[in-house]
Amino acid sequence: MTSPFRRPLVIGNWKMHTTVRAAAGLARELRPLVPPLPDREVAVAPPFTALSAVGALLEGSPIRLAAQDLFWEDEGAYTGEVSGPMLKETGVEYVILGHSERRIYLSESDLAVSRKAQAALRAGLTPVVCVGEDQMARDAGRAQQVVRDQLLRSMEDLPGAEADRLVVAYEPVWAIGTGRSASPADAAEMHALIRLEIEARFPAGKAERIRILYGGSVTEQNVDALMARPEVDGVLVGGASLRAREFARIASYGVPRWGDS
Ligand code: PEP
Repeated sequence: MTSPFRRPLVIGNWKMHTTVRAAAGLARELRPLVPPLPDREVAVAPPFTALSAVGALLEGSPIRLAAQDLFWEDEGAYTGEVSGPMLKETGVEYVILGHSERRIYLSESDLAVSRKAQAALRAGLTPVVCVGEDQMARDAGRAQQVVRDQLLRSMEDLPGAEADRLVVAYEPVWAIGTGRSASPADAAEMHALIRLEIEARFPAGKAERIRILYGGSVTEQNVDALMARPEVDGVLVGGASLRAREFARIASYGVPRWGDS
């Protein structure tokens, strides 16, 4: 059970999957499967090209719209980039920033993530800032140090007054897409450390409102145990979010399923 200050959040990251047609099909399939559950927020993050179509199909449903990235300027000569105001206009509410795949394949830096988080706040979007150590750092006993450094640099210059709108996603790189999730205890330990760092960084009262999600091979089998930890305020789901029934079950964590004894 999470804190009364933090409404749990479940986000499905569709990554670079789904054409507009396939995304629309997935949204149509998903919509009737996710019940309105007022104690949580549920969102999906399709590719940019499918945001409008998916947004229209999910209108009036409990499923909200997230984007997978944005650029740190609001407008200008930045070929290929998409800004916060553009996303806001499309109905987007959350934006995933600094995902490890962007850090690895596009060399996205903590500084870039921090500038993007500020742009998201400016546009009225909720930034979901991803941090997480890779296998080498974990093996070397440096997981906490790596996460702490990424977190502090990615939050640099974020206005304290708006800090409670931030969401952090702890996503160990070795757990993403591998079927090897962090244990609930390991996730909880890292989340506790992240909250301590946030507490030290922002004005009093802000940290307890910041949601910390876990991401990395979340499935319908492990979600209940992860969400049972008070340190875990939600999940960021990759692969399993492309399967409507499974994502709906993940979003319905903690709700007894038909057939469960
Ligand atoms: C992700 O990409 O954010 C993710 C957690 O992926 P997966 O659930 O497939 O591990």
